[in-house]
This record gives sequence, structure tokens and C-alpha cells, in this order.
Amino acid sequence: MADKKFHILIVDDSKSARELVRSYLSETDIKAAFAENGPQAIKKAKSNPFDLILLDVQLPDINGIEICKILKSDARTSDIPVIFVTVASDKESLIAGFKAGAVDYITKPFQKEELLARINTHLRLKRYMEELIVARKKAEESEKLKMTFLSNMSHEIRTPMNSIIGFAELMGDENLTPEERREFASIIINSGDQLLGIIDDILEVSKEEAGELKLFDQKFSLKKFMGELQRIFANNMKGKPVEVILNIPENAPDMIISDKVRLKQILDNLLSNASKFTHEGSIEMGYKLLRKYNPVLEFYVKDTGIGIPKDKQDTIFERFTQVKENLTQNFTGTGLGLSIVKRLVTFMGGQVSFKSEPEKGSIFTFTLPYKMPEKESVVPSSKIKKKSLLPSDNGWEDKTLLIADDIKQIFAFFRETLKKTGVKMLYAKDGKEALEIYQNHKSEINLGLIDIQMPEINGLEVARAIRKENKTLPLIAQTGLALNIGKDEAKNAGFDDIIYKPIKTDHLCEILKKYLK
Ligand code: ADP
Repeated sequence: MADKKFHILIVDDSKSARELVRSYLSETDIKAAFAENGPQAIKKAKSNPFDLILLDVQLPDINGIEICKILKSDARTSDIPVIFVTVASDKESLIAGFKAGAVDYITKPFQKEELLARINTHLRLKRYMEELIVARKKAEESEKLKMTFLSNMSHEIRTPMNSIIGFAELMGDENLTPEERREFASIIINSGDQLLGIIDDILEVSKEEAGELKLFDQKFSLKKFMGELQRIFANNMKGKPVEVILNIPENAPDMIISDKVRLKQILDNLLSNASKFTHEGSIEMGYKLLRKYNPVLEFYVKDTGIGIPKDKQDTIFERFTQVKENLTQNFTGTGLGLSIVKRLVTFMGGQVSFKSEPEKGSIFTFTLPYKMPEKESVVPSSKIKKKSLLPSDNGWEDKTLLIADDIKQIFAFFRETLKKTGVKMLYAKDGKEALEIYQNHKSEINLGLIDIQMPEINGLEVARAIRKENKTLPLIAQTGLALNIGKDEAKNAGFDDIIYKPIKTDHLCEILKKYLK
């Protein structure tokens, strides 16, 4: 157990006694120091962090009991356990020794085995005690961090919430100009996205705690993916003199197989930090091939921002950690981002590191092993899918959707989003109603958009019931339960696909186009 050598002090005026202990200890790993009188013992104990003191009671100048009292009353030496060495008959000294703070005694003439056994027991106890103290300190610190986290979180949630509620109310004003209306809507959307980011972070941490992290590999174009990220973040920087630069070498791989969602989460977190902490200059991002065989990519996000103080650099990957000075400057954040980055990168088989110079900027780098697609098929640019748009001018006039959701606003969202397509929508406020509507309109319905969590009969049961008689009707699950319901569970119940709330119009449109043929 001893990773560090134990160091003990033997106090005895008899040279032969000291030599005897020295010879016993020479067979062990324990390092020994010696003192032959009281003042020497006290001086040595104050200047060395001994793990134990073996203290003879009978000393010529100050006796052992007094020395023990002095040691116990000084903060530098009070924690060092003291074992008394005394003659067997001297019961009085024994009691006085324990009263003075000794932890044990041994009688002279001592047996080697007994001496070593007692020393080892107390050294081990001392080590346990030290470990306990460290653990308690850590627990206290983590408790403190959690409290700070909760108060940050409350602030983080309330701020966008205020904007959402406030601007939504303002939008009710009929006298608004179209421009104001657009501006307010954009504030509401941004605040919603901000809230979603916080919720995703919290879910991520819960998933980690539940050991539920899984990777879903898919083939995608990395160049396109990075280009989209660059556009999003460049757009976020509007109003700040910060350029967002994408730097990918010509010969860098493009089509890769990896978990796109996780990669986006990693880069999103790094880029949000870079945008948050950079007031002018640039944010540069990119990747290159680091290893061809068993291929590995190296990504980086570099900024010219405020940097991270040297003394904080060791801890920023820990949960809830934020640089204190940042808090006073009112930067938003939960202190979770980098801990998530580190965990995800590690989970994906890579490593993350950073260099940062206060006032100059930071660069975060991470590696990512990936799989190469079998054959990189070249798609002619004319065939590249354009951003999917909903058919306007009543293109879906002949289609009917069954939409089941216990939250009316969600239905309102579908109704408004899909209005211009002319699609007919049948609305069910719970699972029971969904099945009734299905029974009455089965010949008309072309697709079901079913919420999973509904009162009475939940979405999974609705899908199972419909599947019993109809194997081909496209059924799409929609859920906010990002934590609990996976694609597999939804598929097992009979769903063809799943969309997670909040539902983005683009995604909804892609799914509907795919299944509403
Ligand atoms: P937060 O939600 O606070 O951003 P993170 O875990 O992502 O949490 O980051 C932890 C802390 O590390 C931040 O609060 C900030 O103090 C510091 N930090 C992270 N990235 C940067 C950066 N690019 N520039 C300066 N400081 C950074």
C-alpha cells in the first residue's frame, strides 16, 4: 500500500536502543530518523512531516510525556501519531502518555515482531486517515461545485426563458412592424436553442452516470459537415468582429464513417466556448489526416480569445468547472461542456488536449479514429440532394396524416408548419383517440406521427396495435424522451422512424418527404 516511503522518528537517549531499532527497521521499507533528547526531537518533528514517532518516556532532560504534550499542541506536529516506549512496570507513565495524546505503547525490552507489528499498524492507520481526509475534502469541493452549478443552471435557464416569455408576449402586439416581428421571432428561436443546449448537456451527464452512452456510426461527408458548422457559428458571431475560418487541407478525407451526432456535440461545445470567450480576431477550425492505417483524424478549434489562466488549466475538463474570473465577467455556461467533450472524445477512442495563453487565445485539439467507407462513390454534383423543402401550393392535398400528441401546442406547430402543403391532418389528443381515429379513417391515412408519451395508451402501444392489422402504413414516433427511448425500441414497437423534440422543420420535412410518397 505504501507508494510513498514511510518516515518515522525514534527518540531515545540510549545509543544501543537506537541501534537496535535501526537494525530492525533496516529490514523494512521504512525510513528512520533519530533524536537522543527532547529538544532535538521537537526540532526535528517540527521540520519534517514524520508519519510516526517512537518516543521513549525516560529521557534525561524533558520526559516523554511533556514532549508528547508539546507535539500535540503544535499544528505542525499534532497529527503525527506517537507510540510510547516504556518499561513494563511503569503503569503510571502509560496512563499519562495516553492522556498526553499517544496512540499506543510498547514496553522495553522490546520484541522485534511486536515492535514492527505496532509500527506497521499505526502507519497503516495514518495512511487511511490521510486518504479519508483527502476524500472528504474532495467530497466537500464537489458539493460546493454542485451548488455553484445549480445556481448557474438556474441563471442559465432563466435567462433564455425570460426572453422567450417576454418576446412571445410582445409578439401579441398588433402594431408591430414585420421587421420587429422577425427580430422577436429570431430572439425566441435563439433562446430556445440555448435552452435546448443546456438540456442536452444535462441529459448527457445523466447518460454518463447511467452508463448509457452508445455510438451510432453513419457515413457522411466531413467537409460538408464542417462547412455547415462554420456557417452556423459565423452566423452566431454576427455583430462581433470575429471571423470564423474553416481550414481543411485539399487532400484531407471527406467521406467517413463515424458518429456524426457525437462529433457535432464535441465541436459544438468547443466552438461555443471559442465564440463565448473571443471578442475580436478569429476562430479557426479544421481537421487533417493524422494516420492513414487504422485511420485517425485530428481536429482543432483555435481562437484569439481571452485564454485560460495557467493555474486553471489542470481542472477545466472537470465537471462544473469554470474559471472564476469569467463568472464575474458574466459569461454564460454550466461548466459541463469540456467534461462532455473529454468523455465523448475518449469514448470514441480519441484524445483531447489544449494549449492556452491568457490574453492571446486557446487551441483545442482532439483525435478521432474513424472508419473509411468501402468505396468512396462519387456523386455527380447535379445529383446532390438540395435542401429539402416542403411542397408548397397544396402539393400534399391528397394526403392525410394522423397526428397524436397530448400537447396541443405540438399539434399547432404541425398544423402551422404543414399548412401550405395542403395535407389533411387528423388530430388525436391521446393514444385511445388515436386508435379510434385510425379505425374510422384507415383507408385515408397515409402516415402516423405519434407521440410516445401519452396518457391512457402510450405511443408504443398505439404503434403495436396499428401494426397488428397494417404492416405498411408509415409510422413515425416523435418524442422528447431523448434519454429513454432509442430507435431500436421504437422500431421494435413498429415505428419506421423517430424524430426527437424539439422538432426542426427541416428534419420534419425530410422525414415526411421520405415516407409520404
Ligand atoms: P462552460 O459551460 O462554462 O463554458 P466548459 O466546461 O465548456 O463550461 O468550460 C469550462 C471553463 O473553461 C469555461 O467556463 C472557461 O472558463 C474555460 N474555457 C473553455 N474554453 C475556453 C476558451 N476557448 N477560451 C477561454 N476559456 C475557455
